[in-house]
Amino acid sequence: MNDKKAELDISSFCSREIPCSCGRRHFCPIREVVVEKGALSSLPALTAGFGHILLAADTNTWAVCGEAVSAILGSSVQAKLVFSRKGQLVPDERAVDELESMVTADTDLILGIGSGVINDLCKYVSWKRGLDCGIVATAPSMDGYASSGAAMIVGGMKVTYTTHPPRFILADVDIVKNAPLDMIRAGYGDIIGKYSSLNDWRLSRLMRGEYFCPEIHDLVFEVTNNVRDLAERIAERDDEAIAYLTKALILIGITLSLVGSTRPGSGSEHHLSHFFEITSLLEDKPHFCHGIDVAYAAVVTAELRERIAALKEPEFCPEPETDRVAAWQRIYGRIAGEVRDLQAKAGSYLRDMTDAYRENWDDVKAILADCPTADACRTMLTRAGYPLDAFEEMYGRQKIRDAVFYGKDLKDRYSVLWLYYELFSGRKDERQEEV
Ligand SMILES: [Zn+2]
Ligand SMILES: [Zn+2]
Repeated sequence: MNDKKAELDISSFCSREIPCSCGRRHFCPIREVVVEKGALSSLPALTAGFGHILLAADTNTWAVCGEAVSAILGSSVQAKLVFSRKGQLVPDERAVDELESMVTADTDLILGIGSGVINDLCKYVSWKRGLDCGIVATAPSMDGYASSGAAMIVGGMKVTYTTHPPRFILADVDIVKNAPLDMIRAGYGDIIGKYSSLNDWRLSRLMRGEYFCPEIHDLVFEVTNNVRDLAERIAERDDEAIAYLTKALILIGITLSLVGSTRPGSGSEHHLSHFFEITSLLEDKPHFCHGIDVAYAAVVTAELRERIAALKEPEFCPEPETDRVAAWQRIYGRIAGEVRDLQAKAGSYLRDMTDAYRENWDDVKAILADCPTADACRTMLTRAGYPLDAFEEMYGRQKIRDAVFYGKDLKDRYSVLWLYYELFSGRKDERQEEV
């Protein structure tokens, strides 16, 4: 790995093998990333050789730069799909069918114009159909641009498919800096959440012997610190700060490809955010956009870490299985069976880790304590203009408690949430207010 971290030279991580001290040779197949003012003018070069390009956008993102992209690509555009929905576009079966039905035998590139959902849909459909895809980013709102994961909603469940990263990512700073402020704050929040995900990665190395790359860990940590330091400038849409945030989001997505897992970018805070997204879909209620949920959730996971790290010795008090199953039914309703099946398959509830926790307690506490405190996280959010009360106003205390104890069950992934559940879920004072 090189040490050009400060400048965020993304191209040095793309399309070449990187020998690493972790013993692996890292590789990310993305060919080009262009983040600068006026980047749209690079489109002809990035799409050279493609003559039947399918454009995909939603009504909002098309309005941002759809016509401009279309005009630049001219006769290379085969067709366009502009998703139109009453509320938010959801990457579900219906959206997949709509996009896939536009693909013909001639289509050679799917070019998404948008952010999270458009990017996921284009990655997924292009991968399914054996096509390349590219993305013109419209907002610095999340770190998924470069990752190979496509987060889809299938049968009401969030399912992340391992697909392929886009061939290229283009972010014109003049465009992304004018994204809605909430989306810019969301991108900042997705990055601030990395303190939590990196901590979970370290914990999973200790407790589950999971693969860990210290260089990628340190790179993401440094980038996260740099973004934190730019909080005010990001909220003011400062060119340089927005460019750095956008590059940081793309680079962290690349690190997921480099290590072949989501560990550097997603941990307990993301499991909580997925919980809010899924339960809101189930209940037909609103939720914050991804990165904002992640940011608030990172404050919650920081609280859990502090609470655990304050324990001299671990005293485990998990709730009885019957209570857990009842809670799943109450919370997950029609998808409770899928949650139960997922956990039965994962087998995490059958694994007794209590002795391992006791043996490693000092190390566990040292890792958990080596993470920004909840107060420090709150300050990071306030500096970027987050209203701190909005989180509890949106979800209420009960749902936040449910997320803490049962959000982990939507995933087959170890994090601090499992330890917290083992310690506190059976304590009377911790139990959710029964409905
Ligand atoms: Zn490595
Ligand atoms: Zn995220």
